Amino acid sequence: MVSEASLAGALSNRRFELIVLPTEKCNFRCTYCYEDFQIGRMKRRTIDGIKKLIEVRVRDIDDFTLSWFGGEPLLAEGVVREIGGFAHGLCKSSGIQFHGALTTNAYTLQRGLFDDLVAIRHNNYQITLDGDAEWHDRTRLLANKTGTFDVIWKNLVDMQGLQQNFRITLRLHVHSENIESVRRLYGKVQQAFGGDDRYQVFFHRVSNLSGEKGIPQTELGFARYQQVLAYITGAQDVGEPPKATSEASLGDYICYAARPNSLLVRADGRIGKCTVALNDPRNDVGRLLDDGTLDLDQQQLQRWFEGYRTMDARTLSCPLSTLPA
Ligand code: SF4
Repeated sequence: MVSEASLAGALSNRRFELIVLPTEKCNFRCTYCYEDFQIGRMKRRTIDGIKKLIEVRVRDIDDFTLSWFGGEPLLAEGVVREIGGFAHGLCKSSGIQFHGALTTNAYTLQRGLFDDLVAIRHNNYQITLDGDAEWHDRTRLLANKTGTFDVIWKNLVDMQGLQQNFRITLRLHVHSENIESVRRLYGKVQQAFGGDDRYQVFFHRVSNLSGEKGIPQTELGFARYQQVLAYITGAQDVGEPPKATSEASLGDYICYAARPNSLLVRADGRIGKCTVALNDPRNDVGRLLDDGTLDLDQQQLQRWFEGYRTMDARTLSCPLSTLPA
């Protein structure tokens, strides 16, 4: 059951969120990835269009969230710095709450860059690990097939030296073959960051929403998944209470794709809703024009808001899962 507070937040016209893909290229080649890396770094006209859009929208809102996604957004670090710094400065001078967030593989998120991003209030990071080094380095590989765990872990540990507030959400992928590896990783996370509230764990049951290169044989059924999470989190003996959540505890979640006050801007200026279905024509809902205005196909767009008519929690939490073909 979705709460009134969640609905009010999703429908508020005093809030605005832009999810920006500054490049759709990636330095990783995860074995299960659904992206095709066709679209490269965002062009100048789209960067300037986003800045103009932000400039106009902040006049009528109290709260602005700028979320970076990719590809790997930090491959276009200059775009993140430019638009992020612009949005932060504008919101600060206009008295608007600003939140910057990145979904990143964190491979290039070294301490100097992290400090600079936190300084422009990019305080929220979602970083995925597929297990400890033993499993992660089988699936989350660089394009040259090298493993990535040690570099990411070093970056995570280095971040802890920063005094400022931030939130790192470690998204741990779980499926039937990596349970022991995730359990070891969870223990490692608790030991390294268990006393630091800025680090959180979010378990994600790997499934095959894109339908392209999935791993259906290893997907856990929901009941089994809950048992597995209890096993992973309950077997630790590190003194700190587990700070973990998962989809199993997200009854009140409305996906950004279902929120009328959230839009995705792709690297080529197309406007979408969902960050998973990037190759799906149902996700093409318009274009950002050079002057910062939006040319939206209202009929395409409205399909993502079906959950408010049916009040179906599944549709609100993932509109793609029930979107008609
Ligand atoms: S619509 Fe579903 S698949 Fe797309 S971003 Fe939301 S939860 Fe993910």
